Amino acid sequence: MKLLVIEDEHALCDTIARNLRRLAYSVDCCYDGDKALELLSVEKYDLVLLDLNLPGKDGMTVLRTLRQSDQETRVLILSARSDVEDKVEGLDAGANDYLEKPFHLAELEARIRSLTLRQFTQQDVILTCGELSFDTRARTAAAGGEILTLTRKETGILEYLLINQGRPVSQEELMEHVWDNSVDNFSNSIRVHISVLRKKLRAVLGYDPIRNRIGEGYLIGGER
Ligand code: CA
Repeated sequence: MKLLVIEDEHALCDTIARNLRRLAYSVDCCYDGDKALELLSVEKYDLVLLDLNLPGKDGMTVLRTLRQSDQETRVLILSARSDVEDKVEGLDAGANDYLEKPFHLAELEARIRSLTLRQFTQQDVILTCGELSFDTRARTAAAGGEILTLTRKETGILEYLLINQGRPVSQEELMEHVWDNSVDNFSNSIRVHISVLRKKLRAVLGYDPIRNRIGEGYLIGGER
């Protein structure tokens, strides 16, 4: 899951990003509205956390501009403005949710789960496929009942494949949803991360649940 945090208070932005990365989300940070629109025009995000009071273009302008060309990307407004009018304006402009500042990290995490796993019901906090499972609350993966020790990228790859189980996912799509602009970006090719992940899964399960479909990508679940 790739997230963009648009927030001009650097310390807050970085704290949010650090906490979400710890939960194996891929997170980009951005501190003003102009840069945000630039990023949104070239990168694909699963969810955008958007502050309203921003230097450059303000949050509402960023949201309205995004919605002219993109109805898909989920947007969660984070704002100190608590007036009902502001919430209504934000939701009418196409935001998917609104969280008032200050907020508890646990609530932010719950909203993120709800927005990024929308195709699943709220009861589906655990994604499963055979002996594999991913706890979307704890953000941990298990195989054969054993919790796996995975890196952030390995966790992100496994989560994305489980969410899309039964459908082959290309390397490019994985890059879009699992890689962010943090320093270790591109330090290793996606193949390396996938191959280490497969080794770890094989060690616990005795087989490799990830399959390659030539020309289409990687696949978990579905028919064998
Ligand atoms: Ca602000």
